[in-house]
Amino acid sequence: MTIDEPTLMTALGLAALTASAMFIALAIFARQIPGVRYWAAGALAVGFATVLDGPRLIADWRLASLMFNIPFTTGQAFILAGTMQFCNRPHAHRVLRVFAVLAVVLTVMFTYITPDDKWRIWSLCCCQGAANLATAYLLFRYPDPFSRPVFIASSIVALLQALAALAQGVLVSLSAVSITYASPQLPVANMISWGGAMLNIIAGNWLMFLLIMLRLVADLRVVAERDVLTGLLNRRGLRPHIDAILRRGEAHGGAIGIMILDIDHFKQINDTHGHEVGDKVLTVMGEVLLKMGFPSATPCRWGGEEFCIVVEGQSRDYMVQMAEHIRKSFQQGTAELGVLGSGRTVSVGIGRSFIDAQFDVSSLISVADAQLYLAKLAGRDRVAVAE
Ligand code: GH3
Ligand code: MG
Ligand code: MG
Repeated sequence: MTIDEPTLMTALGLAALTASAMFIALAIFARQIPGVRYWAAGALAVGFATVLDGPRLIADWRLASLMFNIPFTTGQAFILAGTMQFCNRPHAHRVLRVFAVLAVVLTVMFTYITPDDKWRIWSLCCCQGAANLATAYLLFRYPDPFSRPVFIASSIVALLQALAALAQGVLVSLSAVSITYASPQLPVANMISWGGAMLNIIAGNWLMFLLIMLRLVADLRVVAERDVLTGLLNRRGLRPHIDAILRRGEAHGGAIGIMILDIDHFKQINDTHGHEVGDKVLTVMGEVLLKMGFPSATPCRWGGEEFCIVVEGQSRDYMVQMAEHIRKSFQQGTAELGVLGSGRTVSVGIGRSFIDAQFDVSSLISVADAQLYLAKLAGRDRVAVAE
């Protein structure tokens, strides 16, 4: 089977337009994700350029080159600007404006003012190569930790596109023969350029879809597994950490500790100073737990004014030391709020056990809870540990 170039390019152009339709749908439904609108615009521009240019629908070469170069180069710039937003980098609008103006000025200049195909192709290849290189750099440098391999794969695709654009530019500018419109005199340069476009359509766009989907999954995970007020894990978020500790403990043996912390007389804070101050006190505890710097410990908001910390493979003394550190930091942090005098206190109950086949987390939690009750009974603002 043989397929002529116009048919192939029309198919590729239609694929790019389909991709852009999906980006547009995502831009509408996932609008909280930055950069998706620009990616939609980029895919649309590239698809438009490819559909028009592939089958050579426009007979006049000047008009054809305007209708290809401007949307194609601007499309790459839209993709760069979208990637900047997606990776939380500033100045995306400015970069997009510079590239769009350059694409228009260079195309018009070398098509109508001082017609020169070599210069036209070379300058636009440089613009496109620069946009692709910058996209590749951003994806490589600022990946989401959750989907790093997809960022790297997208970065490689953008890099290959950049190399294709630059290679075409170099081949055209070094060529001894005179070049017209899309350099049919240099089949290799032509092939490299279409290869770059094809790579974008068959791999680049799909990897970008995947990036959006994985960002959505990561956002949903945060919503499902984190507490909004304190930024700590919630109970659901803590569960996989406990399961992982148990798996490791069953395989290699080891200890697990559970610490339950309950802010003392918290209801009184709400009643006396209002819920806002109550919320600030909870936030202080969140900050203390997030910054405590005990690597083997995973904290979570257990519910209301209660917090839980799961500690892997540490001694009883280590846990007491950790609890005392938290108790003091919390008092200091709440004192710094300025409305609660010398600060507020917290009571802590600790349970610890070795992991074996009979081990049951809920019994260990009950042990820690019972210790917390004893700490409250003994006068609060203290740490109690099961013997
Ligand atoms: P104790 O020293 O015995 O622990 O007494 P307490 O007042 O801390 O305990 P109690 O269980 O009586 O009160 C807990 C209060 O926490 C009741 C509830 O209104 C409040 N609370 C729970 N969640 C939140 C929250 O997200 N924000 C605020 N401001 N208050 C909350
Ligand atoms: Mg309580
Ligand atoms: Mg309490």
